[in-house]
Amino acid sequence: MKKLILRIARFPHFFIVLLVFPLLGFFIYARYFASQFFALLAGSILLIIVYLVYSYISLTNRQSLILLENGEYEERLNLLQAEISREKQANNALQGKITRYSLLKELTEKLCVSFSLADTSQVIAADVNAVYRQGEMTVIVYFLKGTLNELSLAASLRGQGPLNLKAKKGDLYDQWVVKNLKPLLVEDTRNDFRFDPEQIHNEDERMVRSLMSVPLTVGEKTIGVLRVDSSQEHHFSTEDLRFLNTVGSISAVALENAQLYSRVEDLAIRDSLTGLYLRRHLMERLTAEISRHLRSDEEMSFLMIDLDHFKKYNDRFGHTAGDIVLKTIAMILTDMFSQPGQIVCRYGGEEFCVLLPDCSKRKAGQLAEEVRKKIETQTIILRRERTHVTVSVGVAAFPRDTPTKEELVQKADSALYEAKASGRNQVVLAKEVK
Ligand code: GH3
Ligand code: MG
Ligand code: MG
Repeated sequence: MKKLILRIARFPHFFIVLLVFPLLGFFIYARYFASQFFALLAGSILLIIVYLVYSYISLTNRQSLILLENGEYEERLNLLQAEISREKQANNALQGKITRYSLLKELTEKLCVSFSLADTSQVIAADVNAVYRQGEMTVIVYFLKGTLNELSLAASLRGQGPLNLKAKKGDLYDQWVVKNLKPLLVEDTRNDFRFDPEQIHNEDERMVRSLMSVPLTVGEKTIGVLRVDSSQEHHFSTEDLRFLNTVGSISAVALENAQLYSRVEDLAIRDSLTGLYLRRHLMERLTAEISRHLRSDEEMSFLMIDLDHFKKYNDRFGHTAGDIVLKTIAMILTDMFSQPGQIVCRYGGEEFCVLLPDCSKRKAGQLAEEVRKKIETQTIILRRERTHVTVSVGVAAFPRDTPTKEELVQKADSALYEAKASGRNQVVLAKEVK
């Protein structure tokens, strides 16, 4: 029963019918039995109807206004959502830029404290690698060699490790950058009309599908090329290229400074006439080599070489001619002793010395004899005259002859003195202490 009442109550017309019937009964009763009351009633009902109609109309108007406002709010919401997503994108881009520029700051700080060319190019390669870390990426730094416009590999990195590249002089893309002195972006190496795929010979097996490369220039001077490539196509954007170009500008200045630094360093340790190392540098290297040899079983040898009767030569042909002789001797020595670790030095006026790491005294004696013969047979043409010079050589070895640096030089010098005393143009080995 209760359920039935509830169901009926939910039906809205039920109330209208419930009201209309008693009203209608009341109305008929008033019409026929109380006419005065009927007029009052009819008037009141009419008023109520007018009021209801008015309420209905104003409610409908308000409803349509609310609907209109609702639509406007929805539109505004959509606009706000679009703006939020735009802001989010801009925010992400800004975050990316902040990360990149903080890496740029780090790079600048590191470059300020790296002086050698090798260190500087390594720092550049590592930091560029950190920027474009995602994916299989290769970063290469090339130097431009002298007037030949030829590239030479300075540093290369793939992922987190070093990469041993066969193409040490760059490929068609790098040469394009050197020739045009412009940044280059190749989105797909198989579809770039500027380069003929037939002409691109990759000496290395790695796949290059997209790349960007910028020239490293300071003013009018080109220092080298900085390149990043990937095995995936469309890996780099123009924004990436712009950033690489900024890195390139900073790197070029750092590389030029490193070049200048190494030149100044060279000036400080090399003799201006012959280009050989000076005595101070030799003594530093000798200290390092002695401590290295203390930890190994290998012998180290030392040659002291002095020109015979050079004073007389100078007196006869002049000081400038003597300088030519000194340069010629320096060339012969650097040519003969060019293996890694071997150091040729101008010890004094017409005295030279050679440090031979990991070389026995016997072997050093043979090499000294070879060099003596070479100098003896070398013709030096001065004022259309064919002239010759000879040298005397003293040989000493570490640790066989002495355990100290100073004594090693002194032993070689004594052997040289002996060679001079025995008639010059000969090699003498230091006497061994039994
Ligand atoms: P010895 O065979 O005993 O070594 O005789 P020497 O004449 O070579 O030796 P000495 O020490 O008497 O003379 C060395 C000469 O080397 C003196 C100097 O004129 C010459 N000399 C030293 N440095 C230079 C240089 O830079 N240029 C030229 N042209 N000569 C130099
Ligand atoms: Mg001499
Ligand atoms: Mg001398």
